[in-house]
Amino acid sequence: MSDIIQLLPEYLANQIAAGEVVQRPASVVKELLENAVDAGATQIQLIVKEAGKQLVQVVDNGSGMSATDARMSLERHATSKIRTTEDLFRIRTLGFRGEALASIAAVAQVEIKSKLQVQDTGTQLLVEGSQVVSQQPTACPDGTSIAVKNLFFNVPARRNFLKSNAVEMRHILDEFQHVALSKSSISFSLYQNDLEVFNLPAGKLSQRVVALLGNSYKEQLALVEEVTPFISVKGYIGKPESAKKSRGDQFFFVNGRFIRSAYLNHAVLAAYEGLLPKETHPFYVLFLELDPKTIDINVHPTKTEIKFEDEKTVYAIVRAAVKQALGLHNMAPSLDFES
Ligand code: ADP
Ligand code: MG
Repeated sequence: MSDIIQLLPEYLANQIAAGEVVQRPASVVKELLENAVDAGATQIQLIVKEAGKQLVQVVDNGSGMSATDARMSLERHATSKIRTTEDLFRIRTLGFRGEALASIAAVAQVEIKSKLQVQDTGTQLLVEGSQVVSQQPTACPDGTSIAVKNLFFNVPARRNFLKSNAVEMRHILDEFQHVALSKSSISFSLYQNDLEVFNLPAGKLSQRVVALLGNSYKEQLALVEEVTPFISVKGYIGKPESAKKSRGDQFFFVNGRFIRSAYLNHAVLAAYEGLLPKETHPFYVLFLELDPKTIDINVHPTKTEIKFEDEKTVYAIVRAAVKQALGLHNMAPSLDFES
């Protein structure tokens, strides 16, 4: 009998891993925007063409990368964000798994341009399906631009699986919304096929909500603020009258990261009990902050699921915070926790 097991070549391992991280253009949008936030950018620009099928590009004015780091950023399990197991339990950044860029570069044509503030010239790197095509010095502004072209060009089955531009664009807007809501102190813009569709100046959360989700929320926000030693819950909920037939404008952020949680959603709805018109869904954007030691976000590669060590207490405090806000909203409609 002969031995038949072989280690996969790296490009193939990357391509397989990419399946978990990169499902559609919106996944690329999420990963690139999160990297720009982690890099400390104060201005972030998202450019998409053909609903991201042709181009997803994110330009930031963050830390930038050295030439060596730009090359390293494409390796699997390569990250500047954690070093030890202990770090895993005190994560403050959005990324930490060190696999997004490697995954994206395995299934697309990628151009990275990056420059550190302390350097005069930046670096330009071209990669195609995990293969580095070229790397050279280039003149570019401080920060990083990553352009991802022709997603899934080398995985036809995946490319064919993509939905219409309208559907893919909807997913992209969702990701843009999540990141833009999570950091109102950063200015964001979005260009779709060369047209500017969003230009969001840095400001307060309430301003960001209205700029992103529409004027209909302007007089409808009630402040939520509940701080305990264990958890802080802050943000806005919509007054019951503003609840909509369609679900959707409901956002939880845990330590700055957008997460989905049917359990927490239930906590909010429980607080509204008896106040909502039938079959309507309330607006909420709630920021939970708690010790990273008490949560686990490493449930899934996209990190939108979370496990709380003490979920019953989280539930109870979220519900109490929303109840409190609903009781107070008539008295103090214009308070802003950021001011
Ligand atoms: P992770 O974000 O989990 O660390 P990524 O694959 O997304 O993994 O990125 C790898 C590394 O590349 C990051 O840890 C960071 O050091 C660097 N990087 C990626 N994008 C940027 C950016 N926009 N600005 C500065 N550094 C970046
Ligand atoms: Mg990342």
